[in-house]
Amino acid sequence: MHAIPDAAGRPAWRPDLHVHTNASDGIFAPSDVMRRAKERGVNLVAVTDHDTLLALPESARAAMAHGIAFIPGVEISTAGDDEVHVLGLFVGSHMKNLSARLRAFRGDKQRRCVEALRILTNMGLPLTLQDLRLPHGVAGSRPLIARAMVRKGYAASVPDAFERFLAVGRRAYVPRRNMDTGEAIALLSREGAVPVLAHPALIAYERTDLLNRLEQWMAQGLRGIEAWHPAHTPETARYWAGIARSRGLLVTGGSDFHDGLPPHGELGDRLPLWDTADSDAARLLDMDGEEVAV
Ligand SMILES: [Zn+2]
Ligand SMILES: [Zn+2]
Repeated sequence: MHAIPDAAGRPAWRPDLHVHTNASDGIFAPSDVMRRAKERGVNLVAVTDHDTLLALPESARAAMAHGIAFIPGVEISTAGDDEVHVLGLFVGSHMKNLSARLRAFRGDKQRRCVEALRILTNMGLPLTLQDLRLPHGVAGSRPLIARAMVRKGYAASVPDAFERFLAVGRRAYVPRRNMDTGEAIALLSREGAVPVLAHPALIAYERTDLLNRLEQWMAQGLRGIEAWHPAHTPETARYWAGIARSRGLLVTGGSDFHDGLPPHGELGDRLPLWDTADSDAARLLDMDGEEVAV
């Protein structure tokens, strides 16, 4: 249950619907994320960590303390090295099939991480799991390896570590196990979540191929497209918003906040460009009031 008055009787929504915490590869704890969101005038946040729901309870509490409306979410990487990402909004730990799949993903992530550390060590760049400073219950990942490499002086920056060692095709890259994008969408949909295609411009498929797949994903339960994202120019964002609207899909947007540094965004930084943010957020909230705490 939630109280969202009609547009005339409430402040405009200032949403950020794609946010990471230190439960995946962000650097801030949920309470710091929400404080920062508040400072930047964001009043609706979806926390969407990679493959984990770990930060959601603390995020919900922190959001409430700051008077921020909260949507529990997750970001799932699919299609192996093609890096298709699906956001699941309005998720929860009561979704047993989702929780089981995420647990399996985290196991695979940890396996890949250990293998990458072994390869780097063999290359004369010794690294252990301890060097990653993993918070309790958090799986290792390439961004965390990259940060440890910077701390050790093996790389000048996180992008440098990716470019030379960790990107797809580089020596310390370990392929992920494949999950089909449609399968992830169908799983989220069956569990009652709202599946949204994340940052479509970052997907490796040709535009026509992607548009064909979009039809198929919609048949499997896709409900929205993340048009507003730091990797999209305003023109690209408007293109994807148009595609979403023409197909009856929701338009969403977010900063993909990790640490406030490029290539990711700062909390709320899409809002000056995203001119339909209020009505897009209201449409999204209409889809599920159960989980929203205002
Ligand atoms: Zn992503
Ligand atoms: Zn993300």
